[in-house]
Amino acid sequence: MVIVERLVKRFGSFNALSGVSLKVAKGEKIVLCGPSGSGKSTLIRCINHIEKHDSGRIVVDGIELTDRIRDINNIRSEVGMVFQSFNLFPHLSVLENCMLAPMKVRGLAEPEAHERAVALLRKVRIHDQAHKYPTQLSGGQQQRVAIARALCMQPKIMLFDEPTSALDPEMVKEVLETIVELAQDGMTMVCVTHEMGFAREVADRVVFMDLGSIVEEGDPSTFFRAPNTDRAKAFLNRII
Ligand code: ATP
Ligand code: MG
Repeated sequence: MVIVERLVKRFGSFNALSGVSLKVAKGEKIVLCGPSGSGKSTLIRCINHIEKHDSGRIVVDGIELTDRIRDINNIRSEVGMVFQSFNLFPHLSVLENCMLAPMKVRGLAEPEAHERAVALLRKVRIHDQAHKYPTQLSGGQQQRVAIARALCMQPKIMLFDEPTSALDPEMVKEVLETIVELAQDGMTMVCVTHEMGFAREVADRVVFMDLGSIVEEGDPSTFFRAPNTDRAKAFLNRII
C-alpha cells in the first residue's frame, strides 16, 4: 500500500530524515514511536506530501509521489490524515466539515455527501452533534469529527500524528477506542503515538525512530518486552 525507500528530507543543512525505508502492507497497522525530533511527523507528512522530500521514493497505492500536482491531489484524496490539533474548519458545522472535501474533491452530490457524513458521524458516535460548530465540542469530540471527516473521503490508508496528545486524559480513551474500531474494520494505518497500551492492542508492527532513521522495528510484544537497541531501551524507560 505504501512503499518508502531511502527517503531523505532536509531542512536547510539539517537531515530530518536520513534514508528511511518502510513498507506498509494493505490492512497493516503500524505504530511509529521515538523521541521528540526523531522525524516521525516529518515522515508521515512526506507520505501525505505536506512536506516535499529531497531524495528517495514514496509510492502510495501504486502512484509514485512526484511534483505533478495531479498525482499529489490523487494521493491526498487516498490518504486520510488526523493531526494532534484537530484542524477542523471553525466556520463550518460538524456536518459541513465532513461534506466539504467529498463534494469538492470527489465530486459527490450534496445528498450523497450528506448521507455519507451522517453515517460516519454515527460510526464515531457523534451524529447527535452534527449541527454544532467545532468550538462547541470537547477536544475528544472534535478529534472524532476529524476522524469521521477523513473517513468521508474513503481513504485507502489513515495517518495519525499523535491524535490523543492534545486531549485531556479522560478524552483519550474515547478517541483511542474509535481508532481501535477502525483498525478492527481492516483499515491500513500508520499512527504516531506514545500510547503503549494502544500499540500493544492494535499494532502489527512497532517502528522506532531516532535521529531521522528507523533504528528498530518488530511486533509489539517483542519490542516492548525486549527491545534490541540501547536507544529503544532508553526511550521505553523514559515513557513507561
Ligand atoms: P515530536 O515527537 O516532538 O513531534 P517528531 O519525531 O515528530 O517529534 P519532527 O517534527 O518530524 O519530529 O521533526 C524532526 C526534526 O526536523 C526536528 O529536529 C525538527 O526540529 C526538524 N523540523 C521539522 N520541521 C521543520 C521545519 N519546518 N523547519 C526546520 N526544521 C524542522
Ligand atoms: Mg511530531
